[in-house]
Amino acid sequence: MHCPFCSATDTKVIDSRLVADGHQVRRRRECTECHERFTTFEGAELVMPRVIKRDGSRQPFDEEKLRGGMLRAVEKRPVSMDEIEQAITKIKSTLRATGEREIDSEMIGNLMMDQLMSLDKVAYIRFASVYRAFEDVSQFGEAIAKLQK
Ligand SMILES: [Zn+2]
Repeated sequence: MHCPFCSATDTKVIDSRLVADGHQVRRRRECTECHERFTTFEGAELVMPRVIKRDGSRQPFDEEKLRGGMLRAVEKRPVSMDEIEQAITKIKSTLRATGEREIDSEMIGNLMMDQLMSLDKVAYIRFASVYRAFEDVSQFGEAIAKLQK
């Protein structure tokens, strides 16, 4: 692992623990040259299923898009980057666990909503209102009712 500060090739691990329900290893590393410290997340790289969009077209799974959507939903909310990364890891492992080669984009949206619901209610409502593009007030009411349970 190269040091991101000085590009030295020798870094040592100073702390290592499992995160995201054991799907990732978080490592604190220290560069032996410049002594800067940084964090890496390591997980098994497995092939993600392709995504079937609403119009039937197929796209490669785009983790950045997923992250972007989550970040927009939690903007100015008390949710940490760690929590977002863990949520993304959970979504990805759920998608892989389906064993499908292609999945509906709707499934990703639903998984994102599940994660946001447990992270932050306001972020959930924000995301749900955009994602579902609430057609009427009763749908919005349903989302609120789900929260009150
Ligand atoms: Zn360095």
